[in-house]
Formats: sequence, structure tokens, C-alpha cells
Amino acid sequence: AACPGACQVPRYVRVNTLKTCVDDAIDFFKRQGYSYLGKAASVEELRALSGKKFLLDLHLPELLVFPPETDFHDNLLYTSGHIILQDKASCLPAFLLSPAAGSHIIDACAAPGNKTSHLAAILKNKGQIFAFDVDTKRLATMNTMLMRAGVTGFQLAQQDFLTVDPGDAKYSKVTYILLDPSCSGSGMVNRVPREEAAPSAERLQALAGFQRKVLSHALSFPALQRLVYSTCSLHREENEDVVQAVLQEWGSTFRLVNAFPSWPWRGLAAFSGAESCLRASPADTLTHGFFVAVLERHGEGTAAPS
Ligand code: SAM
Repeated sequence: AACPGACQVPRYVRVNTLKTCVDDAIDFFKRQGYSYLGKAASVEELRALSGKKFLLDLHLPELLVFPPETDFHDNLLYTSGHIILQDKASCLPAFLLSPAAGSHIIDACAAPGNKTSHLAAILKNKGQIFAFDVDTKRLATMNTMLMRAGVTGFQLAQQDFLTVDPGDAKYSKVTYILLDPSCSGSGMVNRVPREEAAPSAERLQALAGFQRKVLSHALSFPALQRLVYSTCSLHREENEDVVQAVLQEWGSTFRLVNAFPSWPWRGLAAFSGAESCLRASPADTLTHGFFVAVLERHGEGTAAPS
């Protein structure tokens, strides 16, 4: 098993800087009887948390960390959109995309929108986010969540991202794309019993085919400079193999960025340079299982891959 009972994932709380700041959120929790222990120095400190104590995360600047059993779904800060209950690993994509204020961004598979709201916070609501998803129910949830979080400057469309035209003038200034496509979810802890979570070879192949297609489509946006590809899967077929295949397809147009060098767990050695990718897991990073790759335009060419 990837995670014996001893390695429970903490409750991570992302402070929504569109509505409040880290210091005010800390003060709020202190008034609710929690003791603040300062900024963590190691993952071990996060692992040792218990009772009504909390820390500031060591890797992500706006992330508070509470013991695993903490439930904030009824907390005023949550219901008012001042905090977002989001796993640490799932905060990596927007943080590593690191878009400049005023940018135009596509969030290609966006619902229920945690990463979209994180992007908006990084942009300070200055810029434009085009968010797509195919699932009506998830889009409805997303709309509510973005309103609650005070996100403005976004366009939400129910559309298959594969049918979004990269040549449309509307997207001519899109320099950043966040791509978090459907995956097997094999990295999610406690969602389904682990045996049931194991996808068949056929399902993995189908998912990987979709992921390659959607990644290649994203790279075809003409002004794109930087893209983050992420999954909550631990399967190499959906992660390093997808990145390798699509990078190969595009020749030297895009390159992998050595993202977050101080992050301890790296991509599997599936190809030369795969260690530039990040991996996350309960045992190694005390998060859900996750994969992130950061790609940047390298040469001048914008030609479609052969
Ligand atoms: N990024 C989201 C977040 O942080 O809240 C989670 C995204 S979830 C992993 C993947 C999403 O991709 C699902 O909501 C699914 O409906 C959507 N999806 C699947 N195929 C799609 C497609 N062809 N175009 C757009 N969205 C798609």
C-alpha cells in the first residue's frame, strides 16, 4: 500500500488572498483557540502536528497546515471564501505556473475551480482567465465557488477544450496554460479502496491517449510561453510518459523547466530530464499523490507538430 495508516495527510488550508491575508487568517484561528507554531522547517514537523495546533507550510507561502482530523467545512472563514480547503500538492500547479499580473491564461480542465481561484489570487484579479470544462454539474459548483472566493475577470465555458480554436483572436494573448486533465485519480488518498482505484491497462491507455491529445492541443496556442501539466495520478503512463511523448512530438519548440529544485520528490527516470518534473505522495511529501511538469517555449517556431 502506498500509504499505511501512519502517514495521514494533514488538513491544508490555502488562504485566499483575494479576501484576506495570511496574518489575519492566523489571528482568526488563534481567536478560535488554535495555537500557531510558526513556519515549519521540515515535513517531519507537519507530520508531528496534533490537537489544536497549526503551522505555516515550508514550501508554499499562503498555506496553513492543521492536523489531519481537522474539519473546517462549517468554519466561517471557509463559508465566506476567505480560505480554500485544498491539498498542498494541488496548490503546486498555479504556484509553479506563476503568471504575471495582467496575463491572459487558459485553465483548460478547470472544474471545480480550486486552481482557477488560486490563479486569480496570484493575478490579484488583474488579467483574464478563460476556463473550460465539459461537466455541467462541476461547472455549477465552480461558479458558486469562484463567486464566494471573490474571483473576477474570468470567463467560464462549458466546452470540450479540444474544440477550442487556438487561432481565435480571443486567445491571441494567452501566454499561460494550466492543464489538469481527467486522470485515473490513483493518487487520491481515502477516496476509494486502493484495489478499486487500480485502473485497468485499457483504461490507463485511454486516459493517456486523451492526456497526450489535450497537452499537444494546449501547446498549439500561438502566444503560449509557459504551461503546467498536472495529474492526481501516480501512474507513469499518465505522467512522465505523456510529457515525453508530447515533447518529442513538438521537437525543440518546448522544453521542460527544472521546477522547484528544492522539492524533494522528482519525476521517475522515464527519460533523460524527467527529474525536472515533480511528484508528490503521502509517504514522501505528506500530500495526496500528484504529478506536475512545467513546460516553456524554447525556440521561435510555432508550427504544429509533425
Ligand atoms: N483543475 C480542477 C481543480 O483544480 O479544481 C480539477 C480538474 S479535474 C482533475 C479534470 C476536469 O477535466 C474534470 O472536471 C472534467 O470534467 C474535465 N474534462 C474532461 N475532459 C475535458 C475536455 N475535453 N475539455 C474540458 N474539460 C474536460
